[in-house]
Amino acid sequence: MKGKQRVCRECGGNAKIVRKDYGFTESGLNNVFLKDIEVVLCAKCKSESPRIPNHDDLMRTIAVALIDKPFELAGDEVRFLRKYLGEGSIAFAQMLGIDRSHLSRVENGAMAISKQTDRLVRTVALVRDPSLLDKLKRLGRTQEILERLSAIEPETNPVRVQLDHAEDGYTYALKTAA
Ligand SMILES: [Zn+2]
Repeated sequence: MKGKQRVCRECGGNAKIVRKDYGFTESGLNNVFLKDIEVVLCAKCKSESPRIPNHDDLMRTIAVALIDKPFELAGDEVRFLRKYLGEGSIAFAQMLGIDRSHLSRVENGAMAISKQTDRLVRTVALVRDPSLLDKLKRLGRTQEILERLSAIEPETNPVRVQLDHAEDGYTYALKTAA
């Protein structure tokens, strides 16, 4: 079917495709936004469903953006990275040298991440999935990531992760709220 009219998958009502910024909460993160992507918008039930090109590269780029975050990782960001790597909580806690309940408290936000664990989560991710390094290389940020490790600060302002889709893959921008 051609054109910009669609049938809503939720309610069968008339939906249309618009381009807009989309809060990608499907990632499990509430600070990730996809810039100017096609969203199927239903006039009747108000549901929004994004049309996401190149899903694998999107997830990879979110992972890389988190590794590049200037502030300590929040619990849901640790959970995102663990799931991105396809690790269960027992195996991941073992890699980090902490016990499972400790990891669970960090992921749930009941406990702040330690400086060491934060850096270890980032480095384990880079070692565990070489495609993250490839992505950083393509974005020309390999050197910055190394420097980042010595300059991570406690989170003072929420960081918004903005993903921009281009022909050759996603790029990211980290925006700090004023
Ligand atoms: Zn609908």
